[in-house]
Amino acid sequence: MTDILVIGGGTAGLTAALYASRAGKSVTLLEKESTGGQIVFSPRVENYPGLPGVSGADYAAALTEQAESFGVTIEYAEALGVEADETGFRVRCDDGERTARALILAAGTSHRRLGLPGEEDLVGCGVSYCAVCDGAFCAGGEVAVVGGGNTALTDALFLAGICKKVTLIHRRDSFRGEESLAARLRRLPNVELRLRSAVTELRPADGTLTGIAVRNLDSQAEEVLPVDGLFVAVGQLPQTEIYRGFVDTDEAGYLIAGEDCRSSRPGVFIAGDCRTKAVRQLTTAAGDGAAAGLGACRYIDSL
Ligand code: NAP
Repeated sequence: MTDILVIGGGTAGLTAALYASRAGKSVTLLEKESTGGQIVFSPRVENYPGLPGVSGADYAAALTEQAESFGVTIEYAEALGVEADETGFRVRCDDGERTARALILAAGTSHRRLGLPGEEDLVGCGVSYCAVCDGAFCAGGEVAVVGGGNTALTDALFLAGICKKVTLIHRRDSFRGEESLAARLRRLPNVELRLRSAVTELRPADGTLTGIAVRNLDSQAEEVLPVDGLFVAVGQLPQTEIYRGFVDTDEAGYLIAGEDCRSSRPGVFIAGDCRTKAVRQLTTAAGDGAAAGLGACRYIDSL
C-alpha cells in the first residue's frame, strides 16, 4: 500500500505527487497514456510565470523529471473503478489493483466533440482535436478551426503559420479566449474569421474530409467550404465517469472541491481541470497540485 495514489499525470497530478513525495510520503502516480497532460501539445506557453515561451513538451518533460527526482513512482495503467475500505482506498486498474491511504484525483479533461454525423469516422482522416499533432498533415492547404476559446485561437495562430488559409468558425460574435490572441489573428492575411457561424455538415470523399457546410446563424445562409482539415476546439469534458457516486460532482461532471482541493469524501483530494473552479490554466493546475499534495499529507498525518 502506498501512502498516496495520484491518478492523472498532467501538471496538477505531477505537482501534487512532487509536493507529497518531497514531504516524505510514498507516492505512486498513475497515468494511462503519457505524462504531461494536454500542455504537451502547446508549441509555446506564453503565460506561465517565469518561463516565457517555453514549449509545452519541454515544460512537461522537466516537470516529470522533477517529480521523479523527488522519489515519485510513475506507473502506466488506467484506473477503472475506485472504492473505500477500512484501510484506505482500492483502485481497480486495467493491470490489477492498487491500494493507498489517500487519493488525489487529477484526471483532467477530454476534447468535446461537435456531435456531427460521421465525425468519429473522420477522426484522423481530416477531423482533428489537436492542431499541433495533426496540423502538419495539412501544411500548405486550407483548413478550418471551430471554437472561440483560447485553444481555438492558439490553434488558428499555429495553423496560420503552416497553412495557405485558415477559417476560424465561432458561434458567437465575441471570443471567450484572450483578446490579445484574437487581435493577432485579425492581423494575419491568411486568416478569415466567420463569427455567428456553425459547422452543420462534414463532407467526405473516399473516407477523407474534403469540405464542411457552414451556416451563418443570423441569415441562415449555408455555404460549403473546401477544406483539407477541420480542427475542433470546442472545449473540454471532465474525465470523471468512474468517480460519480464516489465523490460529489456538479451537473457537468466536474468533481466538487474548493481551493483546499478536499472532496466530499475524507482522504480524497481533487486537483486540476477536473475540479470545479473558475479558471483552468497551467498555473491553477500547479496551485491545485500543491494544495492537494500537502492536504493529502496532512490527512495521512491525522490518521
Ligand atoms: P473553452 O474556453 O471552454 O472554449 C470552448 C469554445 O468552444 C467556446 O468559445 C464555446 O463557445 C465553443 N463551443 C462549445 N461547444 C460548442 C459547440 N457544440 N459548437 C460550437 N462551439 C462550441 O475551451 P478551450 O478553448 O479548450 O480552453 C479550455 C481552458 O484551457 C480555458 O480555461 C482556456 O483559457 C485554457 N487554455 C489556455 C491557453 C493559454 O494559452 N492561455 C491555451 C489553451 C487553453 P461559447 O464561447 O459560445 O461558449
